[in-house]
Amino acid sequence: MTRLTPSTAYLNQLDAETARRMQTARTPESPFAGAPAALAAAVEARVDALAGDLNDVVHTLHKDPETAYEEHRSAAFLAGLLQRHGISAELGAHGLPTALRAEAGTGTGPVIAILSEYDALPEVGHACGHNVIAATGAGAFIALAKTLEENPDAFPGRVVFLGTPAEEGHSGKEVLARNGAFDGVDAAIMVHPYAMDLAEQVWLGRRLLTVTFSGMAAHASAQPFMGRNALDAASLAYTGVGLLRQQLPPSDRVHAIITEGGQRPSVIPETAVLKLYARSKYPETLKDLSGRLEDIAAGAALMTGTTVEISWDEHPPSLPVRTNPALTGRWVAAQQRRGRSPLPAGVVSETIAASTDFGNVSYRIPGIHPLIGIAPADVALHTRAFAEAAGSPAAEAGALDGAAGLALTALDYLCDPELRAAVAQEFTDAGGPVDVPAYFD
Ligand SMILES: [Zn+2]
Ligand SMILES: [Zn+2]
Repeated sequence: MTRLTPSTAYLNQLDAETARRMQTARTPESPFAGAPAALAAAVEARVDALAGDLNDVVHTLHKDPETAYEEHRSAAFLAGLLQRHGISAELGAHGLPTALRAEAGTGTGPVIAILSEYDALPEVGHACGHNVIAATGAGAFIALAKTLEENPDAFPGRVVFLGTPAEEGHSGKEVLARNGAFDGVDAAIMVHPYAMDLAEQVWLGRRLLTVTFSGMAAHASAQPFMGRNALDAASLAYTGVGLLRQQLPPSDRVHAIITEGGQRPSVIPETAVLKLYARSKYPETLKDLSGRLEDIAAGAALMTGTTVEISWDEHPPSLPVRTNPALTGRWVAAQQRRGRSPLPAGVVSETIAASTDFGNVSYRIPGIHPLIGIAPADVALHTRAFAEAAGSPAAEAGALDGAAGLALTALDYLCDPELRAAVAQEFTDAGGPVDVPAYFD
């Protein structure tokens, strides 16, 4: 069999464009003071003292990948780590057995959440590096909690640690949100590993659509005229999606597969099922795209005399990520302390975009989801090469720098009222909170 080698012509162009833009890119600057310098240095030192623990998280989870909603050992390992640092965490928080919640600080005042993912992918394990995310969130939270334990007046407000299950293929954060995980929380931050340091990147919203066509079975040779062919309907819908693509905005994506199309060639297929992902850069355009796909499904049913059932969002939808610029500025400032220079938006083409359930958080409260480099620049997420990187010394460095970045960003947020005011104002200017569960109704 011939081994397929897709052309890298376009990818090479994207890489060349990125390299060109990197030469003139200006790392975003923060006009805010953030936390007092001595306090920031003390918190950063606490993170650095956790390096051994964070390496344990990186490697223990890496060697034992668990997929969405099955992350029992990973969640328990993180709970155990917090426990060893004298912090009790609630395992099974907000109705999800593999979710975690812990809090530090008391009283009223600002509240910031630090998020850790820890689910892996089937077959390729930690090819998205969520073992590193687990370490960054836990490390940041422990450092802040221990600072408060030593001096409860070190900084105002509270820090919430959330272990968030099932990002891959699901939308665990939406389930957590609906169960109140972000109630009373003012901002949420996390970091994701990547092939380079990016202050922000486009993340598309994503919905799942299942289209079931029902026809009438008949003998495909003796009485085909008595049948209504559900596979024909699925085939026309698949073709319709293909034709629609030319007219889609460049920020939209549709992927479709046919999961059921009959059982035997001698029977006109009675049932056919098409599964689609619809993605778009904005909630509004994702809603538009959803309507177009419904029309295609209805049209295919009409053409074939079949009936159609349209079922959206077997798992809750993901919204795009709305990035908060003021928080991004503090993340960048913290990364510069670590010798990293996160690239601004637009340096890496937004063509290279996936989705994350953090989007749903970012449309409820201000948030950031920057990327931290742990792999060579040409290694893509969800590949075996990235899984390898997620267990490498670069992953250890990313976990530590990521933890420091999250701890310092959270600290800045809690200590600097001008920063908090800007964060809130930017969120309002971007449209304010969205009623996510009702958005597509
Ligand atoms: Zn992923
Ligand atoms: Zn991921």
